[in-house]
Amino acid sequence: MQFHPEKCRIPDEPNKPFIDSEEIWDYINNTKSTPDRVREIIQKSLDKNRLTMEETAVLINTTDPELVEEIKEGARELKRRIYGNRIVLFAPLYVGNHCINDCKYCGFRSSNKEQIRTTLTDEELIKNVEALEDDGQKRLILVYGEHPKYSAEYIAHTVNLTYATRKGNGSIRRVNINAAPLDVKGFRTVKEAGIGTYQIFQETYNINAYKKFHPAYTRKGDFNWRLTSMDRAQQAGIDDNGLGILFGLYDWRFEVLAMIRHTNHLEACFNVGPHTISFPRIKDASGLNIDREYMVDDETFLKIIAIFRLAVPYTGLILTARESPEFRHNAIQFGISQIDGGTNLQIGDYRYHHEDTENNTDKTENQNLHREQFKINDDRTLSDIIDELLDDNFIPSFCTACYRLGRTGEHFMEFSVPGFIKRYCTPNAILTLAEYLVDYANPTVAAKGWKCIENNFKNVDPKFLDELKNRIERIKNGERDLYF
Ligand code: SAM
Ligand code: SF4
Repeated sequence: MQFHPEKCRIPDEPNKPFIDSEEIWDYINNTKSTPDRVREIIQKSLDKNRLTMEETAVLINTTDPELVEEIKEGARELKRRIYGNRIVLFAPLYVGNHCINDCKYCGFRSSNKEQIRTTLTDEELIKNVEALEDDGQKRLILVYGEHPKYSAEYIAHTVNLTYATRKGNGSIRRVNINAAPLDVKGFRTVKEAGIGTYQIFQETYNINAYKKFHPAYTRKGDFNWRLTSMDRAQQAGIDDNGLGILFGLYDWRFEVLAMIRHTNHLEACFNVGPHTISFPRIKDASGLNIDREYMVDDETFLKIIAIFRLAVPYTGLILTARESPEFRHNAIQFGISQIDGGTNLQIGDYRYHHEDTENNTDKTENQNLHREQFKINDDRTLSDIIDELLDDNFIPSFCTACYRLGRTGEHFMEFSVPGFIKRYCTPNAILTLAEYLVDYANPTVAAKGWKCIENNFKNVDPKFLDELKNRIERIKNGERDLYF
Protein backbone atom coordinates (compact mmCIF):
# COMPACT_ATOMS: atom_id res chain seq x y z
CA MET A 1 0.00 0.00 0.00
CA GLN A 2 1.43 3.33 -1.00
CA PHE A 3 1.73 5.77 1.85
CA HIS A 4 1.41 9.51 1.18
CA PRO A 5 2.87 11.23 4.27
CA GLU A 6 2.76 14.58 2.51
CA LYS A 7 -1.02 14.38 2.29
CA CYS A 8 -1.78 13.51 5.88
CA ARG A 9 -1.08 14.68 9.35
CA ILE A 10 0.42 11.69 11.13
CA PRO A 11 1.09 12.55 14.75
CA ASP A 12 4.75 13.43 14.83
CA GLU A 13 4.55 14.73 18.36
CA PRO A 14 2.24 13.56 21.14
CA ASN A 15 0.50 16.91 21.38
CA LYS A 16 -0.56 17.06 17.78
CA PRO A 17 -2.64 14.08 16.76
CA PHE A 18 -4.70 14.20 13.56
CA ILE A 19 -7.78 14.25 15.76
CA ASP A 20 -8.02 17.85 16.86
CA SER A 21 -10.72 18.31 19.53
CA GLU A 22 -11.02 22.03 18.92
CA GLU A 23 -11.59 21.54 15.20
CA ILE A 24 -14.32 18.97 15.92
CA TRP A 25 -16.12 21.09 18.52
CA ASP A 26 -15.86 24.05 16.21
CA TYR A 27 -17.84 22.19 13.53
CA ILE A 28 -20.44 21.06 16.05
CA ASN A 29 -20.87 24.46 17.68
CA ASN A 30 -20.87 26.55 14.51
CA THR A 31 -22.85 24.48 12.01
CA LYS A 32 -26.55 25.09 11.61
CA SER A 33 -29.17 22.66 10.39
CA THR A 34 -31.82 24.01 8.02
CA PRO A 35 -34.33 21.93 6.04
CA ASP A 36 -32.84 22.93 2.66
CA ARG A 37 -29.32 22.14 3.74
CA VAL A 38 -30.29 18.76 5.25
CA ARG A 39 -32.11 17.77 2.05
CA GLU A 40 -29.19 18.90 -0.11
CA ILE A 41 -26.79 16.80 1.98
CA ILE A 42 -29.00 13.68 1.87
CA GLN A 43 -29.16 14.08 -1.92
CA LYS A 44 -25.38 14.42 -2.12
CA SER A 45 -25.01 11.09 -0.34
CA LEU A 46 -27.68 9.42 -2.51
CA ASP A 47 -25.63 10.64 -5.48
CA LYS A 48 -22.82 8.47 -4.09
CA ASN A 49 -20.60 11.10 -2.50
CA ARG A 50 -19.01 10.82 0.90
CA LEU A 51 -19.92 13.71 3.20
CA THR A 52 -17.48 16.28 4.57
CA MET A 53 -17.12 17.02 8.27
CA GLU A 54 -19.19 20.17 7.89
CA GLU A 55 -22.01 18.27 6.15
CA THR A 56 -21.92 15.51 8.76
CA ALA A 57 -22.11 18.19 11.47
CA VAL A 58 -25.30 19.53 9.87
CA LEU A 59 -26.90 16.08 10.17
CA ILE A 60 -25.62 15.70 13.74
CA ASN A 61 -27.16 19.06 14.68
CA THR A 62 -30.55 18.20 13.19
CA THR A 63 -33.06 17.81 15.99
CA ASP A 64 -36.40 18.64 14.30
CA PRO A 65 -38.18 15.23 14.43
CA GLU A 66 -39.46 15.52 10.85
CA LEU A 67 -36.00 16.27 9.49
CA VAL A 68 -34.51 13.44 11.54
CA GLU A 69 -37.10 11.17 9.88
CA GLU A 70 -35.88 12.45 6.50
CA ILE A 71 -32.29 11.57 7.45
CA LYS A 72 -33.41 8.06 8.42
CA GLU A 73 -35.45 7.74 5.23
CA GLY A 74 -32.37 8.89 3.27
CA ALA A 75 -30.27 6.16 4.88
CA ARG A 76 -32.96 3.57 4.16
CA GLU A 77 -33.16 4.69 0.55
CA LEU A 78 -29.37 4.62 0.14
CA LYS A 79 -29.21 1.07 1.45
CA ARG A 80 -32.09 0.00 -0.80
CA ARG A 81 -30.76 1.75 -3.88
CA ILE A 82 -27.09 0.94 -3.58
CA TYR A 83 -26.68 -2.22 -1.53
CA GLY A 84 -29.99 -3.99 -2.10
CA ASN A 85 -31.24 -6.52 0.39
CA ARG A 86 -28.25 -8.65 1.41
CA ILE A 87 -27.16 -9.00 5.03
CA VAL A 88 -23.81 -10.66 5.70
CA LEU A 89 -23.65 -13.02 8.69
CA PHE A 90 -20.72 -13.85 10.97
CA ALA A 91 -19.97 -15.05 14.49
CA PRO A 92 -17.44 -13.87 17.09
CA LEU A 93 -15.11 -16.45 18.61
CA TYR A 94 -13.28 -15.34 21.77
CA VAL A 95 -9.88 -17.03 21.92
CA GLY A 96 -8.70 -15.72 25.29
CA ASN A 97 -9.56 -13.21 28.02
CA HIS A 98 -6.20 -12.60 29.68
CA CYS A 99 -5.60 -8.87 29.59
CA ILE A 100 -2.92 -6.50 30.84
CA ASN A 101 -5.14 -3.45 30.38
CA ASP A 102 -7.67 -2.06 32.77
CA CYS A 103 -10.36 -0.48 30.58
CA LYS A 104 -13.04 0.55 33.05
CA TYR A 105 -15.97 -0.66 30.92
CA CYS A 106 -14.71 -4.14 30.13
CA GLY A 107 -15.26 -7.43 31.98
CA PHE A 108 -11.72 -8.51 31.02
CA ARG A 109 -10.05 -5.52 32.78
CA SER A 110 -7.06 -6.64 34.81
CA SER A 111 -8.44 -5.30 38.10
CA ASN A 112 -11.53 -7.51 37.75
CA LYS A 113 -10.50 -10.41 39.93
CA GLU A 114 -13.84 -12.16 39.43
CA GLN A 115 -13.20 -12.78 35.74
CA ILE A 116 -12.23 -16.41 35.16
CA ARG A 117 -9.25 -16.28 32.78
CA THR A 118 -8.75 -18.81 30.01
CA THR A 119 -7.20 -19.23 26.60
CA LEU A 120 -8.51 -21.90 24.27
CA THR A 121 -6.09 -24.76 23.72
CA ASP A 122 -5.58 -25.72 20.08
CA GLU A 123 -7.89 -28.66 20.61
CA GLU A 124 -10.60 -26.46 22.15
CA LEU A 125 -10.24 -23.95 19.34
CA ILE A 126 -10.72 -26.70 16.77
CA LYS A 127 -13.78 -28.07 18.61
CA ASN A 128 -15.35 -24.61 18.75
CA VAL A 129 -14.67 -23.93 15.08
CA GLU A 130 -16.20 -27.31 14.22
CA ALA A 131 -19.31 -26.46 16.26
CA LEU A 132 -19.58 -23.13 14.42
CA GLU A 133 -19.18 -24.89 11.07
CA ASP A 134 -21.91 -27.35 12.10
CA ASP A 135 -24.20 -24.35 12.55
CA GLY A 136 -23.42 -23.16 9.02
CA GLN A 137 -21.03 -20.30 9.82
CA LYS A 138 -18.49 -19.32 7.17
CA ARG A 139 -17.13 -16.04 8.54
CA LEU A 140 -15.66 -15.59 12.02
CA ILE A 141 -14.11 -12.78 13.95
CA LEU A 142 -11.50 -14.01 16.42
CA VAL A 143 -11.29 -11.86 19.54
CA TYR A 144 -8.45 -11.58 22.10
CA GLY A 145 -7.60 -9.57 25.20
CA GLU A 146 -4.26 -7.75 25.14
CA HIS A 147 -1.56 -9.92 26.66
CA PRO A 148 1.99 -11.09 25.85
CA LYS A 149 0.42 -14.54 25.27
CA TYR A 150 -1.50 -13.10 22.31
CA SER A 151 1.47 -12.10 20.17
CA ALA A 152 1.17 -11.56 16.41
CA GLU A 153 2.64 -15.05 15.92
CA TYR A 154 0.06 -16.57 18.27
CA ILE A 155 -2.78 -14.73 16.54
CA ALA A 156 -1.48 -15.95 13.16
CA HIS A 157 -1.33 -19.49 14.56
CA THR A 158 -4.99 -19.38 15.66
CA VAL A 159 -6.01 -17.95 12.27
CA ASN A 160 -4.19 -20.75 10.45
CA LEU A 161 -5.77 -23.35 12.72
CA THR A 162 -9.23 -21.91 12.09
CA TYR A 163 -8.82 -22.01 8.32
CA ALA A 164 -7.45 -25.56 8.50
CA THR A 165 -10.42 -26.87 10.53
CA ARG A 166 -12.95 -28.61 8.30
CA LYS A 167 -15.90 -30.66 9.37
CA GLY A 168 -18.27 -32.23 6.84
CA ASN A 169 -19.04 -29.56 4.25
CA GLY A 170 -18.07 -26.89 6.78
CA SER A 171 -15.24 -24.45 6.34
CA ILE A 172 -14.39 -21.01 7.62
CA ARG A 173 -13.63 -18.86 4.62
CA ARG A 174 -12.90 -15.50 6.16
CA VAL A 175 -11.27 -14.94 9.53
CA ASN A 176 -11.38 -11.36 10.79
CA ILE A 177 -9.57 -10.21 13.92
CA ASN A 178 -10.38 -7.93 16.84
CA ALA A 179 -7.25 -7.60 18.91
CA ALA A 180 -4.85 -5.08 20.37
CA PRO A 181 -2.84 -2.81 18.04
CA LEU A 182 0.38 -4.31 16.66
CA ASP A 183 3.52 -2.79 15.20
CA VAL A 184 4.05 -2.92 11.41
CA LYS A 185 5.97 -6.18 11.66
CA GLY A 186 3.18 -7.76 13.73
CA PHE A 187 0.54 -6.62 11.27
CA ARG A 188 2.61 -8.21 8.46
CA THR A 189 2.65 -11.48 10.37
CA VAL A 190 -1.15 -11.63 10.70
CA LYS A 191 -1.60 -10.43 7.13
CA GLU A 192 0.46 -13.42 5.95
CA ALA A 193 -1.91 -15.74 7.84
CA GLY A 194 -4.63 -14.50 5.49
CA ILE A 195 -6.84 -12.45 7.78
CA GLY A 196 -9.78 -10.53 6.36
CA THR A 197 -10.45 -7.37 8.34
CA TYR A 198 -8.40 -6.14 11.31
CA GLN A 199 -10.72 -4.36 13.70
CA ILE A 200 -9.48 -1.92 16.32
CA PHE A 201 -11.97 0.37 18.01
CA GLN A 202 -10.65 3.71 19.19
CA GLU A 203 -13.36 3.49 21.91
CA THR A 204 -13.41 7.29 22.28
CA TYR A 205 -11.70 9.91 20.14
CA ASN A 206 -11.70 12.42 22.99
CA ILE A 207 -8.33 12.29 24.66
CA ASN A 208 -9.55 13.30 28.13
CA ALA A 209 -12.36 10.75 28.12
CA TYR A 210 -9.86 8.22 26.77
CA LYS A 211 -7.54 8.88 29.72
CA LYS A 212 -10.42 8.49 32.16
CA PHE A 213 -11.30 4.99 30.94
CA HIS A 214 -7.82 3.72 30.03
CA PRO A 215 -5.35 4.22 32.89
CA ALA A 216 -1.99 5.72 31.93
CA TYR A 217 -0.05 2.81 33.49
CA THR A 218 -1.52 0.41 30.89
CA ARG A 219 -0.47 -0.23 27.30
CA LYS A 220 -3.88 0.83 26.06
CA GLY A 221 -3.48 4.11 27.95
CA ASP A 222 -1.40 5.38 25.00
CA PHE A 223 -4.03 7.23 22.92
CA ASN A 224 -1.76 7.90 19.94
CA TRP A 225 -0.48 4.33 19.67
CA ARG A 226 -4.08 3.23 19.26
CA LEU A 227 -5.10 6.12 17.00
CA THR A 228 -2.31 5.33 14.55
CA SER A 229 -2.97 1.55 14.51
CA MET A 230 -4.68 1.61 11.16
CA ASP A 231 -1.79 3.57 9.64
CA ARG A 232 0.55 0.77 10.66
CA ALA A 233 -1.91 -1.87 9.44
CA GLN A 234 -2.08 -0.13 6.06
CA GLN A 235 1.69 0.12 5.87
CA ALA A 236 1.82 -3.63 6.48
CA GLY A 237 -0.56 -4.20 3.56
CA ILE A 238 -3.81 -4.74 5.51
CA ASP A 239 -6.26 -2.60 3.62
CA ASP A 240 -9.51 -3.93 5.12
CA ASN A 241 -9.62 -2.04 8.40
CA GLY A 242 -12.50 -1.91 10.86
CA LEU A 243 -12.93 1.29 12.85
CA GLY A 244 -15.13 1.53 15.92
CA ILE A 245 -16.46 3.73 18.69
CA LEU A 246 -17.74 2.50 22.04
CA PHE A 247 -20.76 4.72 22.63
CA GLY A 248 -21.27 5.78 26.23
CA LEU A 249 -17.77 7.08 26.97
CA TYR A 250 -18.18 10.60 25.61
CA ASP A 251 -20.56 12.91 23.69
CA TRP A 252 -21.85 10.96 20.67
CA ARG A 253 -21.76 14.06 18.42
CA PHE A 254 -18.01 14.42 18.94
CA GLU A 255 -17.41 10.70 18.37
CA VAL A 256 -19.32 10.58 15.08
CA LEU A 257 -17.52 13.58 13.67
CA ALA A 258 -14.13 12.34 14.88
CA MET A 259 -14.77 9.05 13.09
CA ILE A 260 -15.32 11.04 9.87
CA ARG A 261 -12.02 12.81 10.55
CA HIS A 262 -10.32 9.43 10.95
CA THR A 263 -11.89 8.33 7.66
CA ASN A 264 -10.56 11.46 5.93
CA HIS A 265 -7.14 10.74 7.34
CA LEU A 266 -7.07 7.17 6.01
CA GLU A 267 -8.35 8.30 2.62
CA ALA A 268 -5.73 11.04 2.42
CA CYS A 269 -2.85 8.82 3.50
CA PHE A 270 -3.71 5.53 1.85
CA ASN A 271 -6.48 6.23 -0.68
CA VAL A 272 -8.72 3.82 1.19
CA GLY A 273 -11.28 4.50 3.89
CA PRO A 274 -12.52 2.05 6.53
CA HIS A 275 -13.80 -1.31 5.36
CA THR A 276 -16.26 -1.46 8.23
CA ILE A 277 -17.47 0.74 11.04
CA SER A 278 -18.68 -0.70 14.35
CA PHE A 279 -20.54 1.28 16.98
CA PRO A 280 -21.14 -0.79 20.10
CA ARG A 281 -23.00 0.74 23.03
CA ILE A 282 -21.69 -0.14 26.50
CA LYS A 283 -23.50 -3.13 27.97
CA ASP A 284 -23.39 -4.66 31.40
CA ALA A 285 -20.18 -6.50 32.28
CA SER A 286 -18.87 -8.29 35.32
CA GLY A 287 -18.56 -5.81 38.20
CA LEU A 288 -19.23 -2.86 35.88
CA ASN A 289 -19.54 0.44 37.69
CA ILE A 290 -19.21 3.44 35.40
CA ASP A 291 -20.74 6.81 35.00
CA ARG A 292 -23.82 6.71 32.71
CA GLU A 293 -23.67 10.37 31.65
CA TYR A 294 -23.04 9.72 27.96
CA MET A 295 -25.23 6.66 27.38
CA VAL A 296 -27.02 6.83 24.03
CA ASP A 297 -30.78 6.11 23.92
CA ASP A 298 -32.41 4.02 21.17
CA GLU A 299 -33.82 6.94 19.17
CA THR A 300 -30.49 8.76 19.10
CA PHE A 301 -28.73 5.51 18.23
CA LEU A 302 -30.95 5.02 15.16
CA LYS A 303 -30.15 8.57 14.08
CA ILE A 304 -26.42 7.86 14.53
CA ILE A 305 -26.66 4.73 12.36
CA ALA A 306 -28.47 6.70 9.65
CA ILE A 307 -25.81 9.46 9.80
CA PHE A 308 -22.99 6.92 9.42
CA ARG A 309 -24.79 5.35 6.46
CA LEU A 310 -25.08 8.71 4.69
CA ALA A 311 -21.69 10.12 5.72
CA VAL A 312 -19.56 7.15 4.60
CA PRO A 313 -21.79 5.46 2.03
CA TYR A 314 -19.12 3.03 0.77
CA THR A 315 -18.38 1.41 4.15
CA GLY A 316 -19.95 -1.67 5.74
CA LEU A 317 -21.85 -1.06 8.98
CA ILE A 318 -21.85 -3.75 11.68
CA LEU A 319 -24.51 -4.16 14.40
CA THR A 320 -23.80 -6.89 16.93
CA ALA A 321 -25.73 -9.05 19.36
CA ARG A 322 -25.02 -6.53 22.09
CA GLU A 323 -28.37 -5.11 20.94
CA SER A 324 -31.76 -6.78 21.43
CA PRO A 325 -33.58 -8.68 18.65
CA GLU A 326 -36.22 -5.93 18.52
CA PHE A 327 -33.67 -3.15 18.19
CA ARG A 328 -31.65 -5.04 15.55
CA HIS A 329 -34.80 -5.82 13.60
CA ASN A 330 -35.67 -2.14 13.46
CA ALA A 331 -32.15 -0.74 12.95
CA ILE A 332 -31.17 -3.05 10.12
CA GLN A 333 -33.15 -1.07 7.56
CA PHE A 334 -31.11 2.11 8.11
CA GLY A 335 -28.01 0.79 6.41
CA ILE A 336 -26.63 -2.12 8.43
CA SER A 337 -24.71 -4.55 6.22
CA GLN A 338 -23.41 -7.17 8.68
CA ILE A 339 -24.78 -8.81 11.82
CA ASP A 340 -23.63 -11.71 13.98
CA GLY A 341 -25.86 -14.71 14.57
CA GLY A 342 -25.79 -17.62 17.02
CA THR A 343 -23.45 -15.53 19.18
CA ASN A 344 -22.04 -16.95 22.41
CA LEU A 345 -19.32 -15.00 24.20
CA GLN A 346 -18.47 -17.51 26.93
CA ILE A 347 -15.00 -18.65 26.04
CA GLY A 348 -15.04 -22.14 24.58
CA ASP A 349 -18.79 -22.59 24.88
CA TYR A 350 -19.86 -22.98 21.27
CA ARG A 351 -18.73 -26.54 21.55
CA TYR A 352 -20.82 -27.25 24.66
CA HIS A 353 -23.93 -25.48 23.42
CA HIS A 354 -23.66 -27.49 20.29
CA GLU A 355 -23.45 -30.72 22.29
CA ASP A 356 -26.47 -29.57 24.37
CA THR A 357 -28.47 -28.98 21.20
CA GLU A 358 -27.62 -32.45 19.97
CA ASN A 359 -28.81 -33.84 23.30
CA ASN A 360 -31.91 -31.64 23.18
CA THR A 361 -31.13 -29.99 26.51
CA ASP A 362 -32.04 -26.41 27.27
CA LYS A 363 -29.39 -24.02 25.94
CA THR A 364 -30.92 -20.78 27.13
CA GLU A 365 -29.18 -20.78 30.49
CA ASN A 366 -28.13 -17.38 31.79
CA GLN A 367 -24.90 -15.80 30.72
CA ASN A 368 -22.13 -15.92 33.30
CA LEU A 369 -20.59 -12.47 33.08
CA HIS A 370 -17.51 -13.65 34.98
CA ARG A 371 -16.65 -15.76 31.98
CA GLU A 372 -17.16 -13.18 29.24
CA GLN A 373 -16.56 -9.62 28.22
CA PHE A 374 -20.07 -8.12 28.38
CA LYS A 375 -23.71 -9.07 28.25
CA ILE A 376 -25.28 -9.79 24.90
CA ASN A 377 -28.96 -9.15 24.36
CA ASP A 378 -29.58 -11.31 21.31
CA ASP A 379 -28.74 -14.95 21.93
CA ARG A 380 -30.87 -16.37 19.13
CA THR A 381 -29.49 -19.21 17.06
CA LEU A 382 -28.12 -18.55 13.59
CA SER A 383 -31.12 -20.46 12.24
CA ASP A 384 -33.58 -18.16 14.04
CA ILE A 385 -31.78 -15.07 12.78
CA ILE A 386 -31.82 -16.37 9.21
CA ASP A 387 -35.50 -17.20 9.59
CA GLU A 388 -36.26 -13.60 10.58
CA LEU A 389 -34.10 -12.13 7.79
CA LEU A 390 -35.98 -14.25 5.26
CA ASP A 391 -39.34 -13.10 6.68
CA ASP A 392 -38.13 -9.52 6.24
CA ASN A 393 -37.10 -10.12 2.60
CA PHE A 394 -33.37 -9.94 3.20
CA ILE A 395 -30.95 -12.40 1.59
CA PRO A 396 -28.76 -13.87 4.35
CA SER A 397 -25.26 -14.04 2.88
CA PHE A 398 -22.02 -15.80 3.85
CA CYS A 399 -20.19 -14.48 0.82
CA THR A 400 -16.40 -14.23 0.97
CA ALA A 401 -15.74 -14.10 -2.78
CA CYS A 402 -14.17 -10.65 -3.10
CA TYR A 403 -11.65 -11.13 -0.36
CA ARG A 404 -10.65 -14.54 -1.75
CA LEU A 405 -10.30 -13.23 -5.28
CA GLY A 406 -8.15 -10.35 -4.06
CA ARG A 407 -10.96 -7.86 -4.62
CA THR A 408 -10.26 -6.02 -1.36
CA GLY A 409 -12.20 -2.87 -0.77
CA GLU A 410 -15.27 -4.73 -1.95
CA HIS A 411 -17.71 -2.34 -0.29
CA PHE A 412 -16.13 0.39 -2.32
CA MET A 413 -16.59 -1.64 -5.50
CA GLU A 414 -20.19 -2.48 -4.65
CA PHE A 415 -20.71 1.19 -4.21
CA SER A 416 -18.77 2.62 -7.10
CA VAL A 417 -18.71 0.02 -9.90
CA PRO A 418 -21.99 0.12 -11.83
CA GLY A 419 -23.67 -3.30 -11.93
CA PHE A 420 -21.22 -4.87 -9.46
CA ILE A 421 -23.94 -5.96 -7.05
CA LYS A 422 -26.14 -7.57 -9.71
CA ARG A 423 -23.14 -9.31 -11.26
CA TYR A 424 -21.28 -10.48 -8.14
CA CYS A 425 -22.81 -9.74 -4.75
CA THR A 426 -26.39 -10.94 -5.27
CA PRO A 427 -25.43 -14.15 -7.15
CA ASN A 428 -22.75 -14.91 -4.53
CA ALA A 429 -25.16 -14.24 -1.66
CA ILE A 430 -27.62 -16.63 -3.33
CA LEU A 431 -24.97 -19.34 -3.77
CA THR A 432 -23.91 -19.17 -0.11
CA LEU A 433 -27.55 -19.22 0.98
CA ALA A 434 -28.16 -22.26 -1.24
CA GLU A 435 -25.25 -24.07 0.46
CA TYR A 436 -26.70 -23.22 3.86
CA LEU A 437 -30.14 -24.48 2.85
CA VAL A 438 -28.80 -27.79 1.56
CA ASP A 439 -26.39 -28.43 4.45
CA TYR A 440 -27.85 -26.89 7.59
CA ALA A 441 -31.39 -25.49 7.33
CA ASN A 442 -34.44 -26.97 9.05
CA PRO A 443 -37.46 -27.59 6.76
CA THR A 444 -39.17 -24.27 7.59
CA VAL A 445 -36.08 -22.19 6.91
CA ALA A 446 -35.27 -24.25 3.81
CA ALA A 447 -38.74 -23.59 2.33
CA LYS A 448 -38.45 -19.84 2.98
CA GLY A 449 -34.88 -19.79 1.70
CA TRP A 450 -35.62 -21.39 -1.67
CA LYS A 451 -38.51 -18.99 -2.12
CA CYS A 452 -36.18 -16.08 -1.35
CA ILE A 453 -33.74 -17.35 -3.99
CA GLU A 454 -36.51 -17.59 -6.62
CA ASN A 455 -37.73 -14.10 -5.73
CA ASN A 456 -34.27 -12.64 -6.11
CA PHE A 457 -33.48 -13.98 -9.57
CA LYS A 458 -34.89 -10.69 -10.84
CA ASN A 459 -32.10 -8.86 -9.00
CA VAL A 460 -29.35 -10.74 -10.82
CA ASP A 461 -27.73 -9.51 -14.03
CA PRO A 462 -29.66 -11.47 -16.74
CA LYS A 463 -26.34 -12.38 -18.41
CA PHE A 464 -25.36 -14.33 -15.26
CA LEU A 465 -28.70 -15.91 -14.45
CA ASP A 466 -28.33 -19.19 -16.37
CA GLU A 467 -24.90 -19.76 -14.91
CA LEU A 468 -26.23 -18.97 -11.43
CA LYS A 469 -29.03 -21.55 -11.83
CA ASN A 470 -26.51 -24.04 -13.11
CA ARG A 471 -24.31 -23.49 -10.05
CA ILE A 472 -27.27 -23.88 -7.68
CA GLU A 473 -27.88 -27.31 -9.28
CA ARG A 474 -24.20 -28.15 -8.81
CA ILE A 475 -24.53 -27.25 -5.11
CA LYS A 476 -27.60 -29.50 -4.83
CA ASN A 477 -25.45 -32.24 -6.38
CA GLY A 478 -22.75 -31.85 -3.72
CA GLU A 479 -20.27 -29.24 -5.01
CA ARG A 480 -19.34 -26.47 -2.58
CA ASP A 481 -17.69 -23.08 -2.51
CA LEU A 482 -18.78 -21.81 -5.93
CA TYR A 483 -18.61 -18.07 -6.49
CA PHE A 484 -18.38 -15.39 -9.13
N1 SAM B 1 -8.50 -6.27 23.68
C1 SAM B 1 -8.70 -5.77 22.35
C2 SAM B 1 -8.76 -4.27 22.36
O1 SAM B 1 -9.02 -3.69 23.40
O2 SAM B 1 -8.56 -3.70 21.30
C3 SAM B 1 -9.96 -6.36 21.83
C4 SAM B 1 -11.10 -5.56 22.16
S1 SAM B 1 -12.50 -6.18 22.90
C5 SAM B 1 -12.24 -7.85 23.01
C6 SAM B 1 -13.68 -5.73 21.65
C7 SAM B 1 -14.42 -4.45 21.91
O3 SAM B 1 -15.50 -4.69 22.81
C8 SAM B 1 -13.68 -3.32 22.58
O4 SAM B 1 -12.86 -2.65 21.67
C9 SAM B 1 -14.79 -2.47 23.12
O5 SAM B 1 -15.19 -1.47 22.22
C10 SAM B 1 -15.94 -3.45 23.28
N2 SAM B 1 -16.38 -3.56 24.67
C11 SAM B 1 -15.61 -3.69 25.77
N3 SAM B 1 -16.38 -3.69 26.87
C12 SAM B 1 -17.67 -3.55 26.47
C13 SAM B 1 -18.93 -3.47 27.15
N4 SAM B 1 -19.03 -3.50 28.48
N5 SAM B 1 -20.05 -3.35 26.40
C14 SAM B 1 -19.98 -3.31 25.07
N6 SAM B 1 -18.83 -3.38 24.37
C15 SAM B 1 -17.68 -3.49 25.06
FE1 SF4 C 1 -8.50 -5.73 27.67
FE2 SF4 C 1 -9.62 -5.02 25.33
FE3 SF4 C 1 -11.09 -5.36 27.55
FE4 SF4 C 1 -9.50 -3.31 27.40
S1 SF4 C 1 -11.26 -3.72 26.03
S2 SF4 C 1 -9.68 -4.66 29.20
S3 SF4 C 1 -7.81 -4.14 26.27
S4 SF4 C 1 -9.97 -6.90 26.45
